[in-house]
Amino acid sequence: MPEIRYCKECHRIFQYMGGPVLCSYCRKKDDEEFEKVRAFLKEYPGATMQEVSNATGVKPSKINRWLKEERLEVSEGSPVALNCERCGVRIRSGRFCIECSKMLAREMMQASGDLRQRLGRERVPFEKDEFGLYYKHKNET
Ligand SMILES: [Zn+2]
Ligand SMILES: [Zn+2]
Repeated sequence: MPEIRYCKECHRIFQYMGGPVLCSYCRKKDDEEFEKVRAFLKEYPGATMQEVSNATGVKPSKINRWLKEERLEVSEGSPVALNCERCGVRIRSGRFCIECSKMLAREMMQASGDLRQRLGRERVPFEKDEFGLYYKHKNET
């Protein structure tokens, strides 16, 4: 069932179909702007965020979002600073550098491994003989 959401860009109500929360009008505009930025960067790969913004009329915050979404990538020598959110090293797109991405994946694996181990220990069968109470008839025989 389609969801009714507010467009992030123009705040109009629209039928949300997945992807970025943008109405069809803003999404089309978004695509056009992205295409403009992409074309500009292809021609001027060393441009700064401000230069790109001035030349295309696209807000830097939007360009930043595309970088985080990995739709855009800064070039090797680009002055546009994009840093790993974990170690601060320079990256070209996304949120983490390759090393930190690997580390985060490992930590995630480890966390689920620890959990499995803990659950495994808890599943050790309860020793009834050791902890249960008994009454022994002394003179039964
Ligand atoms: Zn909109
Ligand atoms: Zn990093």
